[in-house]
Amino acid sequence: MARAILHGTAVSSGIAVGRGFYRNHRPGPAPHILVPLESVETEALRLEDAANAVAAEFERAKASLPASLHDQTDLIDSHLLICRDPKLTGEALDRVRAQRMNAEWALEESVARIAEMFERIPFPYIRDRIQDVRAVADRIVRHLADAASFPETGGEKGVLLAHDLTPADSLGLSPQRLLAFITEQGGKTSHTGILARSLQIPAVVGVAGLSGEIRPGDLLVVDGLRGRVLVDPAESELAQAIERQEQFLSYQRRIRVSAPLPAETEDGHRLHVFANMEKADDAETALSAGAEGAGLVRTEYGYIARSTLPTEEELYREYSRLAAAMAPRRVTFRTLDVGADKIFSERRNLNEANPALGMRGIRYCMRHRDIFRTQLRAILRASAHGDTALMFPLVSGVTELRQAKSILNEAKQELDAAGVPFDASMPVGTMIELPSAVFTAEDLARESDFFSIGTNDLIQYSLGVDRDNRHVAHMHQPLHPAVVRAIKFVTDMAHKAGISVCVCGEMAADPLCLPVLLGMPVDAVSIAPQSIPAIKHLIRRSSMDENREMLHHVLAASTHQSINSMVLQSVYGRFPEDMAFFISSLVP
Ligand code: PEP
Ligand code: MG
Repeated sequence: MARAILHGTAVSSGIAVGRGFYRNHRPGPAPHILVPLESVETEALRLEDAANAVAAEFERAKASLPASLHDQTDLIDSHLLICRDPKLTGEALDRVRAQRMNAEWALEESVARIAEMFERIPFPYIRDRIQDVRAVADRIVRHLADAASFPETGGEKGVLLAHDLTPADSLGLSPQRLLAFITEQGGKTSHTGILARSLQIPAVVGVAGLSGEIRPGDLLVVDGLRGRVLVDPAESELAQAIERQEQFLSYQRRIRVSAPLPAETEDGHRLHVFANMEKADDAETALSAGAEGAGLVRTEYGYIARSTLPTEEELYREYSRLAAAMAPRRVTFRTLDVGADKIFSERRNLNEANPALGMRGIRYCMRHRDIFRTQLRAILRASAHGDTALMFPLVSGVTELRQAKSILNEAKQELDAAGVPFDASMPVGTMIELPSAVFTAEDLARESDFFSIGTNDLIQYSLGVDRDNRHVAHMHQPLHPAVVRAIKFVTDMAHKAGISVCVCGEMAADPLCLPVLLGMPVDAVSIAPQSIPAIKHLIRRSSMDENREMLHHVLAASTHQSINSMVLQSVYGRFPEDMAFFISSLVP
């Protein structure tokens, strides 16, 4: 038996066997010292020097980033911004001066205040960015402790162990030497996962007790499919891991070969498979995974981790680069879907008790029309550079859709009057994420060019389950009868009106939900690029007769347990080999 088996969240698939080495070890608890009055300025200077040294380190990291990690440049830029953000270092300096806190303590207080603000943000992928703030602060603290350099281990390939990983931590790392990542912090949307997936190595994050259980040099099995780490495995466990690793690699090679082919079922039904993207730099990954376009561009990326709002020019440059990189494939931009406080600036702080039920999605844009108009103009201008579409998030009904479209029309008129080129017939879609949008789908369909069902939110709002609350995570059931019936109703209403339906939530990348969606039949799915080869592979080996038959039974079932077991039996029966290679959070 292994000396220890640790569990965490699998965020990048694969299995690796190798020895662990530490990097970016978290400093111990910060000392809390009341600085004597005469030393306050020296202490403030100490903090300033440490923050400047870290900023210089980020600059060097950016300049020396290996080619395979070039898409991390803007993430390092965001770390630079955090490092210089007055909320972090500026307020810490104020605390040193006004409250005579030592630098480490003052910085810890700044992070705590920022964390409180982030906790109120309803979007997990933005909320997770608090990890960036912590990582930058930890780095400054390490400089304060004069412990900022971390020796690399010898030339051997190894498993990188860290409290947390940020893009700047990739500084000096040679990707050829990395077998896998394990971190103590992090969730599904943390940078460790992003980094690991771009390097195509397994990663397990959120591993509690990592530093207590793993010593440098320990032999490890990292299972990025099941979210498990074996420390000092027994001979038999090692042999099993190596065999599973080989099977996984050969499976990946096989599905990659057919990834560029269309996703057509055995009996000739075509499903479009698009990628969920954030920025132009994602295009290469999406295209090489076999994406037929971008079904959801989460444009929030261009607004977060910066101290000022992006200008129309900046957005236009990024959007047109994305449209051109994906051309001739379609790129569907979702308009800004942020809303909670502190993302843009202090002045826009909303301080809501229930942010998920507050100023988010299209509501926020209707309130802040200047921000909305700037983005709409940028998207319209980008439409001249490729096949583009636009969709509005969190639409509650026809009134809101009409209001959003009228602002879009005004933006079109302005551009027209100024002689700026754009695609006047760019399709405009509605995201179906709220129960009210489901029930008014027939009306919405008459005024939309397409529907895109955001199942992450649709599940959250239909079942009343916070999508990121671990206490009710077991209730976040994509195959709940209410969800399945809602999707069926929306699909029928869309088809009756002659428009298409895409599903762009996580559900679409879940092999258990896929046959149900195919049976509806939805016209497209939009999923993370790394899920595309496997999902296309499954589609190509399924048949519409079976999918329709399954959906028929699913729609008649009254509990998610009965639907899950029905679907599980069928999917495992049809694709036994594939199921071993899906990340366990998707396959129960
Ligand atoms: C969704 O809600 O399913 C969706 C795709 O949007 P997001 O996850 O960005 O809210
Ligand atoms: Mg959503």
